[in-house]
Amino acid sequence: MPIKIDLDKCDGCGTCAEECPVQCITIVEEGDRKYATVNNDECTDCETCVDACEKGAISMIEA
Ligand code: SF4
Ligand code: SF4
Repeated sequence: MPIKIDLDKCDGCGTCAEECPVQCITIVEEGDRKYATVNNDECTDCETCVDACEKGAISMIEA
């Protein structure tokens, strides 16, 4: 089940990337904008990042 990151809510704080046990979240910097991206091929659907994101920017996409 893929992870979806709401880029309107994500501020690129990096908490999810630090908490992900398989390090499949990367913080991208584009000019003055920062946001998280997920490599869904490596994601194990553990949902750690969903709980870790204080902005509520991460959700699981129902298949
Ligand atoms: S924890 Fe939330 S706000 Fe912070 S980088 Fe991850 S998705 Fe974005
Ligand atoms: S669900 Fe787990 S494995 Fe997937 S991106 Fe979030 S913390 Fe990483």
